[in-house]
Amino acid sequence: MPLVVSAVARSHVGLVRSGNEDSGYAGRSLFALADGMGGHAAGEVASRTVVAALLDLDGTDLGPDPRRTLRSAVLEANERLRLAVAARPDLDGMGTTLTALAWDGHRLGLVHVGDSRAYRLREGRLTPMTKDQSLVQALIDEGRITEREARNHPQRSVILQALDGRPDIDPQVAMLEPVAGDRYLICSDGLSDVVEDADIAVGLGHTDPVAAIDVLIGLALEAGAPDNVTVVVVDVAESASAPPPDTVRDAASHEPGGVLVGAVGETSATREPAPALSAPGPASVDVEDVEDVENVEDLEDEPDEDRDDEAEWSASRRAGRRRRRWPWLLVVLAVLVVAALLAARAWAMDQWYVGVDNGAVAVYSGLDVSVGPVSLSQLQERTDLEAVTLPEFDRAQVEEGIKATSREDAEAIVERLRTSAAACLSAPTEGCP
Ligand code: CA
Repeated sequence: MPLVVSAVARSHVGLVRSGNEDSGYAGRSLFALADGMGGHAAGEVASRTVVAALLDLDGTDLGPDPRRTLRSAVLEANERLRLAVAARPDLDGMGTTLTALAWDGHRLGLVHVGDSRAYRLREGRLTPMTKDQSLVQALIDEGRITEREARNHPQRSVILQALDGRPDIDPQVAMLEPVAGDRYLICSDGLSDVVEDADIAVGLGHTDPVAAIDVLIGLALEAGAPDNVTVVVVDVAESASAPPPDTVRDAASHEPGGVLVGAVGETSATREPAPALSAPGPASVDVEDVEDVENVEDLEDEPDEDRDDEAEWSASRRAGRRRRRWPWLLVVLAVLVVAALLAARAWAMDQWYVGVDNGAVAVYSGLDVSVGPVSLSQLQERTDLEAVTLPEFDRAQVEEGIKATSREDAEAIVERLRTSAAACLSAPTEGCP
């Protein structure tokens, strides 16, 4: 039985922001969300420009290679941003995320730049379809911070890739294999930052997609909605049980046809009272362990493969308000420097020497140096042997630090020094104190 898709969308300015920098679209075959950034309303311009640039894809044939088509469309949208900035220098610095799905009649193409999100709800299980292109996600991937630490990380707003008119854009593109009954969610971080995945799963599980949107936006508002909240819900159904293919509804107005919301639409749907949260949810939902989902396809790596495996990108929590973009190179360099320092410290801590601590001969691990604020040595044992009791030659050496090959070697050096001191006491010679 052939599949059809239908969608609803809504955007809410939230409870703190004065303007809406999100732009969303629910069309016949194109479903998109862009979350703009940049001062003085430039974020609105960026998200609006990118979504508008993609509208030509709606209802059109994606061709034999939908991934290539999507990628080209995103690069073209990025070029429009470049031209916009060239024409209006006051827009310099604007940028936007983009997460979009495009239906080719059988599969959903997914294109992703930045830290907006796509999820799939299948039989009650919520699975992330995108991976945040953010600094905290990179740190999580490196094992340097936990997902819990990421939530409050000071750099949580830094995203690694955005559409901003610059040429070094590498959109992630994948083909998803839907089955009847699948529901897809595209949302801005105004939802995912403040609502846990488990609660998103419950809200998204409401049978009526408009009710689902009501609950999701209501949950964000209940959490304070510090950012714009935009939600696009896409349902996949067997054609006999689905609405007519051109019945795309705005969650508020139920108007047929493609729906633009947020900055690109500024529809009446953007400022609504918080909906009731009492609608009954599904019997059970759970959130798929993101560790299970690790199958990334990138057009660069897989140019023409017509695979049937579904690309899914694991995701993690992050919070982002006013976002900035760091070039990948800078992040890679920073990670390399930190890794090199840690490796150097680990190596240094395996070195040993005998020195002086507060006048007493002492055993240290590490090197008798500091790199910036990082000391590369650690006091292991302070002996009762006073340095002043040593012969002059030994005292000078130990004050300089006597290198040892191991802890045992360091302790042997201490014993030799102790013997020298004792010899001075019993039979003083030249050089003895
Ligand atoms: Ca946002």
